[in-house]
Amino acid sequence: MLRVVVLGAGAGGGVPQWNCGCAVCRKARTEQPELRRTQASIAVSADGDHWFLVNASPDLRQQLIATPQLHPARGKLRHSPVAGVILTNGEIDAVAGLLSMREGWPFTIYAHQRVLSILNSNSIFNVLSEKNVRRQPIELDQAFELALPAGTPAGIEVLPFAVPGKGAWYLEGKAHPAGADGEGDTLGLRITDKASGKHFYFLAACARVTDDLKARLAGASAIFFDGTVWRDDELIAAGLGNKTGQGMGHISMSGADGAIERLAGLDIGRKMFLHINNSNPVLLGDSNERKAAERAGWQIPSDGMEITL
Ligand SMILES: [Zn+2]
Repeated sequence: MLRVVVLGAGAGGGVPQWNCGCAVCRKARTEQPELRRTQASIAVSADGDHWFLVNASPDLRQQLIATPQLHPARGKLRHSPVAGVILTNGEIDAVAGLLSMREGWPFTIYAHQRVLSILNSNSIFNVLSEKNVRRQPIELDQAFELALPAGTPAGIEVLPFAVPGKGAWYLEGKAHPAGADGEGDTLGLRITDKASGKHFYFLAACARVTDDLKARLAGASAIFFDGTVWRDDELIAAGLGNKTGQGMGHISMSGADGAIERLAGLDIGRKMFLHINNSNPVLLGDSNERKAAERAGWQIPSDGMEITL
């Protein structure tokens, strides 16, 4: 059995975002604290004792405090159930939390060479000494099994694959430390329980649902899918910014090319949106957008939600 905890369901900036006065952020600060979401990350475990994070968000410290499954074991002076972190991209909201894991607990970082090259070229990440924190390259389309601290298999297989997306925002117009060419900046993950064969997908960033991707997702027990924006021009329409969803590498939920329509009718056990931006009206429990998403079989998770498969 796999256990999966949603550590954070929000997009970069979270809900509320520190400098945002939009309707959702205002409500989240005041009368509707249930709207709050930290930045996107999940934790997964096959044995309940050892956990692997998918991405380390800037809110990781807060997420670890809020998640009893990730507290140090009783009676141990120094301990963490966190055995590893799988990175799906090099954005701030996926890697900054690594800096909150600098107090000497050993764990493994699993990431594509393009993302590792970003960590390796930023000296601030040297705070995670190579002695304690192994950086393990992962390859596109090559499944691997996560390892427990003793080196034994964790019972969880991960298959990374390339999805349509963009490189990290802070590298736009700059030289990528791994060079200009190549896939691997945005990964989707298939995560499988070796014991049961059941699997789920994690795609917190995805610009398009291709036919290949549809075929891949069919038959999954669950998916966590890019829920950044409801509509592509949402930030512009709300006066919050000048970027479209597509411009940021994110598909919209609605519309003929949106995630809801493109993934309709597929045999998927549980469909959940993740990486939901604070501009997205789907966060509001009584909005038409929430009703439409739920009617189409999608869930809008709250932080801390646990599922098993
Ligand atoms: Zn906002």
